[in-house]
Formats: sequence, structure tokens, C-alpha cells
Amino acid sequence: MNMINNNTPTAELQKLDAAHHFHPFTDKAGLAKKGARVILRGEGCWLTDSEGHRILDGMAGLWCVNIGYGRRELGEVAARQMMELPYYNTFFQTTHVPAIALAAKLAELAPGDLNHVFFAGSGSEANDTNIRLVRRYWQVKGQPERRILIARWNGYHGSTMGGGSLGGMKPIHAHGGRIDGVEHIGQPYWWGEGGDMSEDEFGLMRARELEEKILELGADKVAAFIGEPVQGAGGVIIPPKTYWPEIQRICRKYGILLIADEVITGFGRTGNWFGSQTFGITPDIMTIAKGLSSGYAPIGGSIISDEVAEVVGSGGDFNHGYTYSGHPVAAAVALENLRILQDENIVEHAANVAHPYLAERWAKLADHPLVGEAKLVGLMGSIVLTPNKARRARFASEEGTVGLRARERCFANDLIMRHVGDRMIISPPLVITPAEIDVLIDRATKSLDECYAGLKQDGLLVEKQG
Ligand SMILES: *Cc1c(COP(=O)(O)O)cnc(C)c1O
Repeated sequence: MNMINNNTPTAELQKLDAAHHFHPFTDKAGLAKKGARVILRGEGCWLTDSEGHRILDGMAGLWCVNIGYGRRELGEVAARQMMELPYYNTFFQTTHVPAIALAAKLAELAPGDLNHVFFAGSGSEANDTNIRLVRRYWQVKGQPERRILIARWNGYHGSTMGGGSLGGMKPIHAHGGRIDGVEHIGQPYWWGEGGDMSEDEFGLMRARELEEKILELGADKVAAFIGEPVQGAGGVIIPPKTYWPEIQRICRKYGILLIADEVITGFGRTGNWFGSQTFGITPDIMTIAKGLSSGYAPIGGSIISDEVAEVVGSGGDFNHGYTYSGHPVAAAVALENLRILQDENIVEHAANVAHPYLAERWAKLADHPLVGEAKLVGLMGSIVLTPNKARRARFASEEGTVGLRARERCFANDLIMRHVGDRMIISPPLVITPAEIDVLIDRATKSLDECYAGLKQDGLLVEKQG
């Protein structure tokens, strides 16, 4: 076989990719016919593909490249750490400097008494840790029957068996099932499910489903509630402002642990270091990954409160861990990423420069005939595509048909926006500048125009009845 490199013709790369690379969340046969897009390099908010297109990455990879692509410092730190100590484990009463330094740094950054870090290789793994952690917590407290976790339909917590079971995505459950002891309640998605209620009333109503579920199961059976401060993969669903305070109140009332899955909302995405700060909640455990290393190395973890750490820590061995828990290279890279976020005031840039500018331009997209609402918190945003905004109507076509067409227009216009059903979402690198925001909005508008024209032409601007 010939050497494969960046100069290998695209068609050849695509052929090999289709032959040997089984992609996540992808229709393998469908992709093989079409050929995957091959990304060669990244710089700031920009990607270059094998055809030479300069693509604006409105998704920061998978919501993770918060500091932008191409930061040499992270590569240098990784190389140095690989030379010095590429690997050692943190099992058997052993530790190493990168894990110590990163844990201490995270304890400093995390709010309140979230002072203890259990490392994992990803967000999914961290949520699997959380399942064990909260069940173990109640065992040590002498209430072993408290083992159910309550989560939300259309939440996303990863795709391992544990993470996928916490998540409320039926297509994931359908492929391989889910673990027992997880229950789901409704999501705070006003546009799609709020009916005639005001947003605030609806937010309270959905939060109170937690209380109903607790009473139905018996509070003495419930270990924890888990939720993303803002649902990401579910379509950037920004909850009504009444929602989280009510969830917090109910958790406290029944003594139920609150897990905030901050895998997306952590490290600046919502304009604060953590989404819990933006929504005014004090979780017992936070799940972190993605922006922790800006995606430069795979790493995740759970940040745990003093109380939970003390209880679980007093119970002898905690029988759980990953070979790569606190991996030294990943930890060193994450630490350098946090240094850059802090030294360059990137969270402040996101909150005070990029957010206000994007908010103004993003909101105007709601004037487009295809767009029902345009919402943004920090630098994560969504628009809903609809054939009739007054009625908050859905399309008659199968859900996602229109969203996919819009995404294809974005791709054709060298903008990466993702679709979730018929919602379009963005989550750009936090370093995005106003000039780049102009490019993002211009390309998004052009794509929406083209999508709208195509729908008209194909007779798809039709409302679903009922
Ligand atoms: C991406 C994501 C995960 C899973 O993280 P992986 O690193 O892909 O395992 C978990 N929770 C949320 C909220 C996520 O967005």
C-alpha cells in the first residue's frame, strides 16, 4: 500500500475510509456512496479540507475546541510530557504531577465546594463514573435502595451503556438497550412542547415533573437527578429561567444529589466558567470533558463536592477506574488549555465581546421566513425552522428532512452548522471575532435563503396538521 498523506487524492482517501473506518453515529453504507469530507488542518475558527475549502467551524468540532485550532503551546506541552512521562497510572496509591496540578486547578475554578476530581477519558466515561459514585454514596450512607437516577427525555450524556441510558434519546436506546435504574422526565423545550403556556409556566411545569417522578418512585429509591444546564445534542434547548431553580429546590427537598452535566456548558460556553453559574445552581457533581482540553486530548472527569467525596471516601476502596484516568499527557494538555483560557481572558471575550455581537445578529435571523425563533446563551445558539412561525408549526415532512437540507446548504457554503431534527445549532470556538461572526451570519443567511427556495420548489413548505 502507498503511503497515505495530506497529498493523497481525496477520492482515494474516501475509498479507504469507506473500506476500513466505521464512523460513529453514521449510516455506513450511505456514507460510502457519498464519501466523507476529509479535514486536513485547522487554525483559529477555520478548517481546511482536502479540496482546499476554507470552512468556518460554527460547531468548534463537537462543541469542544473552545480556544480554537492550531495552538502550538498545547502540542509543545504534549511533546514535553511524552518525553518525560508518557504514561503512568493513578491506581495503587500512586500519582503524578499533571494529574495533581489539573485536579488542583479544577478545584480552584469550580464553584462552591466542588473540590475533588475523578478523571476519565471522556464525558461518557465520566457519566458512567457518576452512576457508580452516587449509588456508592447512598450505600455508604446506609440507604443502598437509593439507586435510581432521574434524567430527561432528549438529554444527552454520552453513548457508553451508562451514558446512553442516562441520555433520553430513543434511537440510542433502540441499539443495544439500556441499563436499569434510570427514569426519564420531560424536557424544558417550550417551543416544541409548551402549547399555550407561557415559557415561565412551562419551565415550572417541567421541573415539577421531577417531583411527581420522585413521589411515584418513592424518594427513598432515588439517588440523583442529572441534567445538562443547556441541552446540547438535543438541539441547544435553553430552558425557561424558572426551570433550574425549581429543579434545585426539589432536589434539596428530597435530599437527592444533583449532577450537572457540564461537558458542553463547562469552560466558558455559556459566558461563565460553568453553566451552573449561568443558571444559578449548586450541583453536587459536575461532569466535564470536551472544553476541558479544547479537544486537543481526550479527557473527562467528575468534579465532586466535599460532602460526596467525604462519604464515598470513607467507605474503603471505590471499585472503579480507567487505565487512562488522569492520563499525564491529556492532563498536561488540559492544564495548558486552562492556562490559555485564563491568561487570554477568553471566557470574558466570549461573554463581553463575542456574545453581545452574535446575540444581536443571531436574533435578526428570526426575521427570516423559515426561522421561528433564534436563541443564544453565551456562544451556544439555535434556530427553529418552521413553515408557520405564528403557530410554532412543524413541517409535514419527516422530522429532520428540512434540517438536513439546511445543513447541506451550509456545508456547500463552507459553514459548519449542525442540524438536530429541524433545528439548526451553533457552538463556535470562544475566540471567534466580530468579523468572523459576520462571516458566520452571512453564510448562514445565504444557506437559509437557498434552503427556503429549494423547499418552495419541491413543495415542502407544508405544515403538519394537528
Ligand atoms: C458530548 C457529551 C457527552 C459525552 O462525551 P464523550 O466525550 O463523547 O463521551 C456527555 N454529556 C454531554 C452533555 C455531552 O455533550
